[in-house]
Amino acid sequence: MPLPLRDYFKDLLAHYGPQHWWPGESPFEVMVGAVLTQGAAWSNVEKAIRNLKAYDLLDPGRIHELDEDTLALAIKPAGYFRVKARRLKNLVAWFVVRHGADVEKLRALRPDLLREELLEVKGVGPETADSILLYALGIPSFVVDTYTHRVMTRHGLAGEDTGYDDLKETFERALPRDAALYNEFHALIVAVGKEFCRPTARCETCPLRARLP
Ligand code: SF4
Repeated sequence: MPLPLRDYFKDLLAHYGPQHWWPGESPFEVMVGAVLTQGAAWSNVEKAIRNLKAYDLLDPGRIHELDEDTLALAIKPAGYFRVKARRLKNLVAWFVVRHGADVEKLRALRPDLLREELLEVKGVGPETADSILLYALGIPSFVVDTYTHRVMTRHGLAGEDTGYDDLKETFERALPRDAALYNEFHALIVAVGKEFCRPTARCETCPLRARLP
């Protein structure tokens, strides 16, 4: 029997309304944000992106040429800034050297091969890769995170040890292949995860309480 994930989506959308993700003025800005947001609050990512814009650095060629220390200072508000500077340089090097910093070239590739390429970039894990595919490029690749895992396990739709790819596949099998739907659904899961499905669950008032087993 197909999982009732569309009903989860309807409940969440009715409660929260559209989330308008991902805030970013260009695909490249979203790519940068996908690296900076690793383990960081979005408000801090915004500060780092504001810095990059203020120094006129939000450009693939400029970041590619920039030394890592200067980049690290510019993105300091996002935390783990030295690690993230290296990761960002790796991602941008791949984008510039391999694909000529051309977003359309990325979109023209086979999505599964593009995902593999992204996962080969040091510092890009599945969540970052799928965020880039979905939110920067509009390619339907469902993004999974800690909130997704928590909601799914608490509702008996996944096991504690269900891994990233299995969870992603569960969503992609249950839903039509639709980037707008994946975009909104992931954003709504983050919203419910932050407000209700916290380490201590707040089920009494949660919009998904009727879906509990
Ligand atoms: S808070 Fe409770 S009802 Fe809401 S998603 Fe988590 S487990 Fe489900």
